[in-house]
Formats: sequence, C-alpha cells, structure tokens
Amino acid sequence: MIPLNDLIAQYHSLKAEIDRALSEVIDGANFIGGSFVKDFEESYSGYIGKKHCISCGNGTDALEILLQAFDIGPGDEVLVPAVSWIATSEAVSSTGAVPVFVDVDKHYYTIDEDIVERYISERTRAIIPVHLYGQVCDMDKLNRVASKHNLIVIEDCAQAHGASWKGKKAGSLGHAAAFSFYPGKILGAFGDAGCMLTDMDEIADRARMIANHGQIKKHHHLMEGRNSRMDALQAAVLSVKLKYLDHWVERRREIAGYYREQINNKFISVPRERPDSRHAYHLFVLRSTKRAQIRDYLHKNKIQSAVHYPRALPFLDCYSGRNYTADDFPNAAKLQNEVLSIPIFPEMPPEMTREVVENLNYFE
Ligand SMILES: *Cc1c(COP(=O)(O)O)cnc(C)c1O
Repeated sequence: MIPLNDLIAQYHSLKAEIDRALSEVIDGANFIGGSFVKDFEESYSGYIGKKHCISCGNGTDALEILLQAFDIGPGDEVLVPAVSWIATSEAVSSTGAVPVFVDVDKHYYTIDEDIVERYISERTRAIIPVHLYGQVCDMDKLNRVASKHNLIVIEDCAQAHGASWKGKKAGSLGHAAAFSFYPGKILGAFGDAGCMLTDMDEIADRARMIANHGQIKKHHHLMEGRNSRMDALQAAVLSVKLKYLDHWVERRREIAGYYREQINNKFISVPRERPDSRHAYHLFVLRSTKRAQIRDYLHKNKIQSAVHYPRALPFLDCYSGRNYTADDFPNAAKLQNEVLSIPIFPEMPPEMTREVVENLNYFE
C-alpha cells in the first residue's frame, strides 16, 4: 500500500538524533517546561519571524487561548472559513463567541478575501484565516479589510509550517498565529503539542498566563487560566525536526510539482498555486466529480487516499441548528463532494510518486 503519509519512515531517517534528545529529557527528569521547551520556543519564533513563541498543549488550545488573550468572548463574532478542520470554529465557540462562516475561494479553497467584508457586523472582532492544505491566504487583502474594520487577525497555521507569502513565513502575517504539532502535520511531535506566536508583548504575557493556570510566577495567579503546556519530550522531538523542516517542505513541493505536471486525466484537476504564496503541501488535494470511483480504483491499486473534508464546517451536524443550505456556501458545498487527497510526504520515493501518477492517468 502506498500510504498518504509515513511517520515511521520519518522517524527512521532521524532515529539516532531523536532517541538521543529523548534520553536527555528522560535523564534530566524535567518533563514540563524547562530548557527543552524554552529552546524550542526560541528557535521557532526565530524561524517564523515573530518576537514571542508560547508553547501549549495543542493547536486547538492555541487558537482558543489567543482569542481569550485578545479578550474575545460572549457577544463577539469571529469570521472563519467554511472549509477547515472543526478546531477552527470550535475554538471560537469555546470562548463563548460565535463563529461566522465565510465561503472559500473557488480556486484556492481559502477564505474568500473578496466577500469577507459582507460578513462583518458591529460584533465582529477577529478573522481567522486558515492556510488550508499548506497554501497561504491572500494576506494583503485580508489585512487591508481587517485594518479598515479594526479586526484582529489570527492565522490558523496548523497546516502551513514552512509555507510563506511574498517571502514572509505563514505565522508572521497577522497579529498572532496558532500552530499545531499534531503528529501528522508538516512539523509533528510524538503526541499533541501546539504554539502561539505574536509580536505583541501584552498578548504574549496573557497567552502564557492563560496556558499555565494564570500564573506569572509560581503561586502568583493573576487570573484563572487552564493547563495547556507543551511537555519537554515533545519539545525535544520538535527541536530536532525543525532543522529539517525547510528541506521537507522543499521535498513536498518537488513531489507536488511532479504531480501537477504529470497528472493528466480529463476527470481530474490538480490544485492551483496562488502566485505570491509558497504552498507547503501539507496535503495534495485533487478535484473530481468522479471522486468515489477514483477512490475505489486507487484502493484496488493499493494507493491510499482521503477526503479533507467530507463536509464543510457549516454543514456539520453540530451547526445544523443554523439551517444552512448549499446556496449559502456554494464553493464549499461543491468542494466537499469533489476533493481527494493523495499520498505526499517528504520521504516518498520517486517510484511511488510515479506509480500514483500512472494509476491516476489510467483511470477512465
Ligand atoms: C489540526 C488542525 C487544528 C488543530 O490542531 P490540534 O493540534 O489537533 O488541536 C486546527 N486547525 C486546523 C486547520 C488543523 O488542520
């Protein structure tokens, strides 16, 4: 079977280095906080190009804590794209604010920058652009709308490690950014982990407090916070992997380039790259009106595929009370029936990519 992603291959390519880092943590028995976590935060803020990196338990918490740090909650509205993983809208609801869905662009599948303004009300406080599948949104347009209406921009970078926009890294393009290091992401830990990035000192302090029981220092609780921390074992793994991130993104782009050039089948369209955006290809997402048949065919030919996502956010059961129809989000409604993710991972050997292409091109 050709897998969608191969975490075992990645571990084996770095085994000695990762094992050494993990034993160092275990030998020191400093499992929460401490120098491994601090080192990773420093390297990652340097890598992305933001002043502060605050680690936390996972990407969903990163979004929620940032919203809280900006004092967003009951009575507020936050704009989110109609296509994302549920964490984006869930984080908004968890603060007591209301996620307001905006349809996605029909070519690039990220929040449609040209219609965002229609969804702004006097309650709107923030926009969460999601750099879906690894492709950065048009941040010039979004930032222009945001500054005109005095909105906070929190980038959801869970799928966009190492992606960039006009030479600047995803995560450095708004007021703050949330990353997930879930194992299957481009930069993944050996369990759950996440982080928040910002240049704003006050937001960084508040986010750090919220993530650690409202403490500014031990036993000084300025507020009630929560427990959302990255552990040292995850930080040690991430520090090793971070050194390879640029190379991995480059490999993903090479594979994507090969797919884009070689896949040639009238039933299938390949993803478009936004001109100013350096797509990191967390996922390589095809489109086809014959998706179900292609999935079956690939499965028979031992090639894994997946659907990200079979239902756009507004059409999930948890939002059924809002009674949305396909007409409310026409692009998202169409996309959910057509998208298909095919194998892409940095360690993927050329024979595998060739086999994927040959099979797709034979499909009829
Ligand atoms: C994975 C993901 C998240 C959530 O990250 P977790 O670490 O799993 O909580 C948020 N947003 C998007 C777009 C994601 O893909």
